[in-house]
Parts: sequence; C-alpha cells; structure tokens
Amino acid sequence: MNLKKWIALGLTGCFLFSGCAEQREQAQTALENSQQENRHEATSFAMDTVMTFTVIHEDGEELIIDAEQEIRRLENLLSVTLDGSEIKQINENAGKEPVRIPTEILELLQTSKDLGTETGNAFDIAIYPIVKAWGFTEEEQSVPPQETIDQLLPLTDLNDLILDKENSTAYLEKEGMAVDLGGIAKGYASDSVKALLKGKGVESALLSLGGNICTIGNKPDGSPWKAVVQNPLDANDYVGLLEISDTCVITSGGYQRYFEENGKQYHHIINPATGWPAESGLLSVTIVCDSGTKADALSTALFVMGLEDALEYWKTQDDFEAIFVTTDGEVVATEGLKDSFTFEGKDNDFTYRMAER
Ligand code: AMP
Ligand code: MG
Repeated sequence: MNLKKWIALGLTGCFLFSGCAEQREQAQTALENSQQENRHEATSFAMDTVMTFTVIHEDGEELIIDAEQEIRRLENLLSVTLDGSEIKQINENAGKEPVRIPTEILELLQTSKDLGTETGNAFDIAIYPIVKAWGFTEEEQSVPPQETIDQLLPLTDLNDLILDKENSTAYLEKEGMAVDLGGIAKGYASDSVKALLKGKGVESALLSLGGNICTIGNKPDGSPWKAVVQNPLDANDYVGLLEISDTCVITSGGYQRYFEENGKQYHHIINPATGWPAESGLLSVTIVCDSGTKADALSTALFVMGLEDALEYWKTQDDFEAIFVTTDGEVVATEGLKDSFTFEGKDNDFTYRMAER
C-alpha cells in the first residue's frame, strides 16, 4: 500500500468533494494500518542482558536481524570474558606487549580514557581487577580483604593504558592490569545499531538494551517516544516519565547488580578512588544524551561522583541532562528536562526538585 498516495488522495479529496470527513477517516485508517504493518519487534539476549528492538520500517524484520548481528559482532570484540575478544587479548598481554586492534576499538578505548580524565577518574575502564576481586564477573561475590584492594588499586591507573594510533595498538603497561568496557559497551552498541538502522533508511525505532533506551526519530504517529525512570527501590514502579525524540536514556544504579554479606548490600559500581562500591548518596543516575556511548559512561561516572559533584560537572557541559534519585528519597532533574520529564514518584514518598544551571 502506498501511504503517501492515500494521504494525498485524502487531502485532495477534502478540497474537491464534500465527503471530506469520510476521506479523512479513510486516510487516517490507511495511515494506522500501514504503521501497524511496518512495526516490527524482537527480543533477544546478548551482552548479558535482554534486548528489545522495535523498528518501524517495511523491511523491519530483516533490519532487526542486521541489528542483532551487529550486537554479536560487538560482543565478540568487546567482551571481557569471551575467549578471543580484542579486550581479552589486551588484558592477557598486560605487562607483556602491545596488541594490534581495529581502529574502532582503539577509538572506543580513547573515548573511554578521555571520559575518565573529564570525570576526574570517576569513570575508569581499568577498574577491572577490582571488579573481579569483588566477584562481579565471577559466579560468587564476596567482600575482598582490604589488603587485596590496596594491592590492586595501583593497577587501575588509566595513564598506564597506552594507545598508539599510528600502529593501532593498545598496551597495558603493568602485569595484572585489565580493561573492562562494561560501563560503556551497551551505550556504544546502541549508537552502532542506531547508525546502522539510520543508514538503511529507518526514521523511527526504539532500542532497549537492558532497559537502556535509544530512539530514532519519533513514534510513527509523530509523538515522542516514552521512557520510564525506574524506582530503584521497586522494580515494578517508576519515579518519572521522559518524552524523548532521537536520543538515548541510560541509567546506572546500585540496585541493578549487587550481593549481600552480613546484612549489608554491596553493588557493582566501584569508586576508583577507594576500590569499594561507590557510596555517594545516590540510588540511580539517568543520563539523557544523543550519544549513547557518552550517556553510558556518564551514568556510571556521575553515580560515583554523587549529586553535588555531578551537578557541578553537568554545569560545565551542554550535551546531556540527568535525573538523580538519592538515598534520601529525592528525585532531581536538570533543567533541560523541564518540558520532557514528568515526576511520578509522589505516591511513594519521593520528593522532587529541578536543578538549575
Ligand atoms: P553501568 O551499569 O553502565 O553503570 O556499568 C557498571 C559496570 O561497569 C560494572 O558492572 C563494572 O563492570 C564496570 N564498572 C564498575 N565501576 C566502574 C567505574 N567506576 N568506571 C567504569 N566502569 C566501572
Ligand atoms: Mg554506564
């Protein structure tokens, strides 16, 4: 069915004939039917998470397969645990020799390093030895002895990750060092899939990678996509709703992965300054940014920084907005979201304020 023809017919009809309402209705029905026909959705599991892709396009089914293949390609390059991944090879050669890697990975490592520097090392992809010591990539988790953390902390310095653009190599200078893109890979994957789909003519899509959302354009009816900001204390509840067009919404929170020992919870976002899970007074940080890569890194980094430092950092930047949920039950949204964020946490005793520049 040619949608444009239907609409044109409907509009022309309005001018020429008296049965205008009927024509309009027909055009509307044609539009809705065509949207339904072109809406394709699939769920899969990759990168340790559930992914759902919704693509509005007549070739949506094939395009989703392309998107899933792109995710697998990236997983094979970026995984810290998959044998043969580029990242694993870099880690296995720490203290031994530089490893030749594709430019794409080199650039992602450089971006990660830059975001580390920009955030005062709150984002640190070289934190992996500590993440491992806590067991977050193992079957069992437990609080490591302070002695172990003290021994590992000197191995987490991003300055010891040497990136050589000319030779396209990455080198970890000290034995025992390891990089982990767990804090940025899903955002990067979202950007890659988004670029792939846009390149194939997709104008409307929603990509959900473990609850992190990246959108292309608007919904087919022209209204913005919606993303919820989860209540970190209740998986079935949310503290607010975001209306978004062609952007990404990425959340980091201690509630997303943690274990309990002696009645205390320990989560997976590590403060690189201490080697312990960040206790910064935040339950979650949601970043809204056109770049999924940046959104992902910043959600992790700003969680480590805590509300005050995070807001100071936000004031120095103009390409992202954020929503914080604090341990005191406050929801704070940055002012750029004033028209797109609706606070919905009142019934659960959250309070709300907007942070201004
Ligand atoms: P995210 O869910 O994006 O906040 O990423 C958290 C994951 O990133 C963890 O499971 C670790 O693999 C890794 N990670 C933990 N702490 C940090 C940190 N300070 N900087 C970078 N990556 C981290
Ligand atoms: Mg992240």
